[in-house]
Amino acid sequence: RVAYVNGTYQPHGEASIHVEDRGFQFADGVYEVWSVFNGRMADFDGHMTRLHRSLNELRIDIPMSVESLTRVLKETIRRNRVKNGIVYLQVTRGTARRDHPFPSPDTPPSVIVTSRSVSTTRSEAQAAKGVAVVTQPDIRWGRCDIKTVGLLANVLAKQAARERGAYEAWMVDEMGLVTEGSSTNAWIVDKHGRLRTRDTQANILKGITRTAIMDLIASENIELDERPFSVDDAKEAREAFFTAAGAFVMPTISIDGVKIGDGKPGPITTKLRTLYLDRAKRDAV
Ligand code: PLP
Repeated sequence: RVAYVNGTYQPHGEASIHVEDRGFQFADGVYEVWSVFNGRMADFDGHMTRLHRSLNELRIDIPMSVESLTRVLKETIRRNRVKNGIVYLQVTRGTARRDHPFPSPDTPPSVIVTSRSVSTTRSEAQAAKGVAVVTQPDIRWGRCDIKTVGLLANVLAKQAARERGAYEAWMVDEMGLVTEGSSTNAWIVDKHGRLRTRDTQANILKGITRTAIMDLIASENIELDERPFSVDDAKEAREAFFTAAGAFVMPTISIDGVKIGDGKPGPITTKLRTLYLDRAKRDAV
C-alpha cells in the first residue's frame, strides 16, 4: 500500500508528516472521504466543492488545482488497487514552529491522501440486518458545518456507542433534539410516516450523501420534512437510518435499546439505500 504525502507516494507503513504539522498540533486542517466503487469515486463534485468551502472558511490556502488533486486521488486509488472502499484526503495549514496564530503566508499546506478497500460483504450484512444506535450529548464546537479533523468529541461519542454494543452514536443538543451522528447524518420516518432530517442552518455537517438522498427523494416524489426531531420522536419512529460516504444508507433498528418499528430495516430506508447505491455507482468518476 502507498500514501500520497506532500508530492510523493510513500510506502503506507512509513508515510509520515512532521511533528510540527498544524494538523497534529492543533487539528488545524480539513478532510474529505469519497466512497470508491469499482475504482471510481462517488459524489465526486459534491465532496470537492465542500473541501473548497471548508478550506475557505478556515482561510487555509488551496494546495493545488482541482485537476491535480483529482489526479492524485485517482492515482492513490490505482496504486492501492482499491476496487470498493474509500479514499481519504486531508489538508492542513502546514508545518511551522508551534504557535497558535497562523504561520507566515508562504507556509505550504500539507496534503495527504490514503485509500483502502472495505469489505462489501460485511457492510451489506450490516445493512441487511440493521444496526443499533445510542444517544450521546453533543459536546462539539460551534462550527460543525466545517469538515475539520478536530473530531475528539465525535471520537468519544463513537467509542461510547461501541462500548454499548452500538454501531453509531446520535448526538443530542440541550433541547433533546438529535443533531447528527458522530460521523453520519441522522434520519427518521416519524410515527406519521413523514421522512425527517435536521436542517443544516443548525450546527451540523451538510453531508454529501444527505444531499444526494434529497435529490433522489425529490425525483421519487417522497416528501421530506427538513426539521429537527427529538430522541422521543426517534424512538417512536417507524423507521430510522443514517447516511454518510462509506455507510451509504444504514438502517437503524434500535435507539438506546428501544426497538424501532418491527426491529427490521424499513421499506423507505431499504428503497433509499438501493436508489442511492445505483445512482452513486452509475455516476462515479
Ligand atoms: N456528519 C458528520 C459529523 C460526519 O463526520 C460525516 C461524514 O464524515 C457526515 C455527517 C456525513 O457526510 P457525508 O455524507 O458527506 O459523508
